[in-house]
Amino acid sequence: MKKFAFIFLLSIFLLNSCTDSSPEKKATTVNEMSKNNFGLVIHGGAGTILKENMTPEMEAQYEATLKKAAQKGYEILQNGGTSLDAVEQTIHILENSPLFNAGKGAVFANNGKNELDASIMEGKTLNAGAVAGVTNLKNPISAARKVMENSDHVLLARQGAEEFAALQGLEIVDTSYFYTEARFKSLQKAKMGNQDKAAYIDPYIKEYKYGTVGCVALDKDGNLAAGTSTGGMTNKKWNRIGDSPIIGAGTYANNKTCAVSSTGHGEYFIRAAVAYDISAMMEYKSMSLEEAAKEVIQNKLKKMGGDGGIIAIDTNGNLVAEFNTPGMYRAKVDENGNITVGIYKE
Ligand code: ASP
Repeated sequence: MKKFAFIFLLSIFLLNSCTDSSPEKKATTVNEMSKNNFGLVIHGGAGTILKENMTPEMEAQYEATLKKAAQKGYEILQNGGTSLDAVEQTIHILENSPLFNAGKGAVFANNGKNELDASIMEGKTLNAGAVAGVTNLKNPISAARKVMENSDHVLLARQGAEEFAALQGLEIVDTSYFYTEARFKSLQKAKMGNQDKAAYIDPYIKEYKYGTVGCVALDKDGNLAAGTSTGGMTNKKWNRIGDSPIIGAGTYANNKTCAVSSTGHGEYFIRAAVAYDISAMMEYKSMSLEEAAKEVIQNKLKKMGGDGGIIAIDTNGNLVAEFNTPGMYRAKVDENGNITVGIYKE
């Protein structure tokens, strides 16, 4: 009888250790219990977004658009859609709004053009796609997805990326589609200042902000995805490209850990490999998503002098928005469809 009990206990022990050493084991800490079976987080840029610079009407417009985008993503996930579809379609709403520095509302480069960047990544396969410096694609995030799914490459740039997107049947627009008076005035003001510097200040709306958009999502099948889309920096020169189309800096997703989308001063985000660093801290140091995001944004990036923030979601559906600027346009949606919109620091 004793021998039987011993064999029974031994098999339970062996079974447990097999499960623990599975390569699929999630890199989360014990105290991080499952939060949501599915959910998403979006951002519309970080910077010196202060209540005193905002009219109630503008605040309402930002809130309404963030809510609309978040609601769209939620509906896709709720109906069993993939995180990739949720990310792409949510970003379409933000790209199609003139409020954000992506798609329609993209800022102007020094040459008077709008040069757009975007990237997308899938956590299950670690597949990724991106476009940089495109000037006539209505929704650059969809071009990034086509690069991921229908090409042998990860990053296509400028005319080549535009030709590829056209062959893929994506919507091409006249470059005048991206003209908005507000962004054009920002370029004029930036040029009155220092001709040679990309203006990190958007004088027209009197706030020091970036305005890139992004979305991260976890679907019901446990798959993560992340996407980011931007017009870059006002008055940027020499076909400057920031972090948004750079996998590991502006965007990263890995089903073992989390999905991340960044916004901020791109040069710092590239050098700090921000999005990948957060995932790596979870994978190799078993940090929680919250701890890893805080460490990278509030400590590592800040020490380098980098301004900005990230949104992220992990495999357990923890929703995070971390930024070291006074504000970041953002919204979180949990599995019950509760949408929490934020603009300023809490
Ligand atoms: N990160 C973007 C860039 O540097 C700007 C932004 O986040 O708004 O191009």
